[in-house]
Amino acid sequence: MNADGAGAPGPSGRVAFVGAGPGDPGLLTARALELIALADVILYDRLIPDQALAGARADAELRYVGKQGGGPFVPQEQTEALMLERARAGALVVRLKGGDPFVFGRGGEEALALRAAGIAFEVVPGITAGIAASAYAGIPVTHRGLASAVALITAHEDPAKPEGALDWNALAAFPGTLVFYMGVRTLPALSARLIDAGRPGAQAAAVVSHGTLPEQRTVLGTLASIAADAAAAGVQAPAITVIGDVAALHAQLEWRQPGPLAGATVAVTRARAQSSSLAARLRALGASVIETPSIRIVATTDELPALESFDLLCLTSANGVDLLFERLAARGEDARSMAGAVVAAIGPGTARALRDHGVIADVVPERFVAEGLIEALAGVEFSRVLIARAAQARDVLPDALRERGASVEIVSLYETVVEPLDAAVLPALAQADYLTFTSSSTVRNFLSSAQPGAATRIVSIGPVTSATLREHGLSVSLEAERHDIDGLIEAIVADRAGNDR
Ligand code: SAH
Repeated sequence: MNADGAGAPGPSGRVAFVGAGPGDPGLLTARALELIALADVILYDRLIPDQALAGARADAELRYVGKQGGGPFVPQEQTEALMLERARAGALVVRLKGGDPFVFGRGGEEALALRAAGIAFEVVPGITAGIAASAYAGIPVTHRGLASAVALITAHEDPAKPEGALDWNALAAFPGTLVFYMGVRTLPALSARLIDAGRPGAQAAAVVSHGTLPEQRTVLGTLASIAADAAAAGVQAPAITVIGDVAALHAQLEWRQPGPLAGATVAVTRARAQSSSLAARLRALGASVIETPSIRIVATTDELPALESFDLLCLTSANGVDLLFERLAARGEDARSMAGAVVAAIGPGTARALRDHGVIADVVPERFVAEGLIEALAGVEFSRVLIARAAQARDVLPDALRERGASVEIVSLYETVVEPLDAAVLPALAQADYLTFTSSSTVRNFLSSAQPGAATRIVSIGPVTSATLREHGLSVSLEAERHDIDGLIEAIVADRAGNDR
């Protein structure tokens, strides 16, 4: 029977075990991207690149089946049962795993279950973390004269326990590089066992965490020192440990430039739906990001008036724009309903959202606050205005437009409600270098369940948010000059550059 199941009897569904690579989305294979785009169902694990699912079909079923940071996880049998059920129903199921699906990914076990059930599958290899993280740290896992073999090693057992699956004597004697896929917590026991078994304590060793990701970190030491070195550096999972003379080449071959935010931890409080793009951009600059959404956006049911009866439409957020178009679509309308009006956006994010729906904003102010929009509308003629916005917005804009003699109608398309903070992130949050606020509601809701850490710098998107912060007794360390996400990021980068001097 061939791999694409041409010889398989019965069901037309099949499963592809797809390796998503170690984290850098650029290391997804062409075949992986192709299958992700075709899949009816994607069952994915935790350590897959953030953007790996971006190319999935909008109607695909995406299911997280991994382990949640030490918490509850989807049992293996349940994952296999789901995979079988969807494939039997005729679906193309992509089983997306970090790195390579057959390297410590239980891909082999899942494939056996499929074979037993007579379901066709294919396997798309991925770049495994041990090889990729080493390469991104400038460590060739083999090197003429230094290592002509490499071992990839994992174990579920605690190396401190005397029994266990690993033969430490054999590993200590292995004539080549050892790459361990094991938690940083096991490092003290792991290195002690290797040294006990005869591996020289002076041999070079490196830990590479978050390999290939912007927040990648490498700690270089010796087998004897590496556990303490990694602990002192505060290295976090996921990480691999390379033991062998090749590890020392890191000092000469390190090639990745750290981003301007390397080493900084930034907390993002905006709603989950919007936080991921900000978080991804911060990560791309090297920051570690803590996503602590403090608000959630809930669409209201307020009736949307007929847009044709207005000569000025004011949009004050990208959310508002998206929801406006959802409402229009629900009643069978589209952008043409705006054709007769001047369309004003409060800032470039809102303008971008409009453009995504095919509308070029006529007015975008230079200062991205209500006052800026009022100024920008100075030369514009209008008499009937519709402002589409959030329920809790300020009245500056409608008041000013009414003063100019216009009749102003307001439609509240959404409200922001408190999203309880995840208690698990609170300790990390207290240590964050920067805490970002992108609106007054993020401030209020965040402060209802947490406080910024003593050394945390508070970053505000603009004067309105800053005022809310001050009202709550907080001092604003940085305020974006451009009151949008670009400006916010620029402020942090500039501050970081200043701190380093
Ligand atoms: N199938 C995966 C491995 C899964 S086991 C692969 O081929 O890479 C998970 C372990 O892989 C983690 O505990 C860690 O040791 C390692 N790992 C995964 N992603 C990593 C990364 N980006 N950097 C360093 N180690 C990583």
